[in-house]
Amino acid sequence: MLLSFIVLAVKSAWQYYAPTGDVLRLLDVFRRMVNDSIRIGLLNDASSLRKLSLLSYNQLARYDSPSYYKLCAISKAAGILAARNKSARRGFPTRTPYAVRQQLVSCYGFKIENGGLEIPISRGRRFSIPLTKHVLEIISQPGVKVRSFTLSRTRLCLCIARDPPVVECVSTVGVDRNLRNLTVGNDDQTRQYDLSKCVRIATTTVRIVASFTRDDDRIRTAIASRYGQRRTSRTGHLLHSATKAIVTLAVQRKTAIVLENIEGIRSLYRKGNGQGRKYRGRMNGWSFGEAQRQIEYKARWVGLPVIRLSRRETKGSSLSCPRCGERLQSDKRLERKLWCGKCRAVMDRDMVAAINLARRGRVRFARSRPPILLEAQGGAGEAMKGNPTPTVIPGVDAPKLTQPTKS
Ligand SMILES: [Zn+2]
Repeated sequence: MLLSFIVLAVKSAWQYYAPTGDVLRLLDVFRRMVNDSIRIGLLNDASSLRKLSLLSYNQLARYDSPSYYKLCAISKAAGILAARNKSARRGFPTRTPYAVRQQLVSCYGFKIENGGLEIPISRGRRFSIPLTKHVLEIISQPGVKVRSFTLSRTRLCLCIARDPPVVECVSTVGVDRNLRNLTVGNDDQTRQYDLSKCVRIATTTVRIVASFTRDDDRIRTAIASRYGQRRTSRTGHLLHSATKAIVTLAVQRKTAIVLENIEGIRSLYRKGNGQGRKYRGRMNGWSFGEAQRQIEYKARWVGLPVIRLSRRETKGSSLSCPRCGERLQSDKRLERKLWCGKCRAVMDRDMVAAINLARRGRVRFARSRPPILLEAQGGAGEAMKGNPTPTVIPGVDAPKLTQPTKS
């Protein structure tokens, strides 16, 4: 039943570079080729890569560009057309697609030599971009391969991949995402990563944007978006250090990471759900998805399994006692604390959630294994109502995982 997946971990490394006139010309040619292919695709109602290549490859002959880039331009156009079709299918209005940004993407024809990236620039001529120490360090790690490169007017971005050895996990650790922190833990220990600064940055940004009085919508939008970018980069940095620490620690302790599936989390905080405007704004301003994305790609890069629990599997995870499974009581006097009447103990709400997630993840972990393990884990099947369907997750149900054998 177990399938062996080859899960390639993909990441990017980027740097600035100084373009020459030739490079700028090439970027412009590339964009025109993309737009030509888009036009041809729209005229003939073709969006598949195969059909588009047959239709437009010959038409691109008039451009003075290495033929590698023609294929890549067609591929990019196919991507843009496919995205447009998808939006149209979902009923979103679409405009005539057009590549505005000058961006050259290619997976062919480049070489990494003498600390530089060498790319073909026109027929028979090549151009070398010196790579920075940081980028060279990343791409020279064992097993790392450069898959493609992207050039914009000022930036060079390398897409790198590797097939990491799978970390053999002995246990699981749950990650509970809250507004002001990320709580990570299992039965052995819990830890909180404070993110209240992110909330502060968000509120400040909202206040600044709200204070604009200028009566020009276009300028207001432009300035607001500038502040939005600043906010994203500031909170992004804070999140990055937290998620990096979480993954590093999980690798050290050999614990698979358990996350709750947050698909549709936005619909929890919508108008008419009986929540206040400010509360909704706060919850929707939080990038839950970003925390999850960062943890997942960082874990994949080091070969650490990630278990994503479904809605049903996480139901009530912050409401039942991790010790006895009893429903916990909240008390207004105790902020973010819960009370278990049976154990007669006060517990931290976020920690309870993280511990329960870790346990439920372990149940999933165990289900694909012989039944001895469930006993070995001592009550891992705690407070589970219903019987969630097992899902095969590539990387989690991969064959190399060993099971916890507690003594
Ligand atoms: Zn209890």
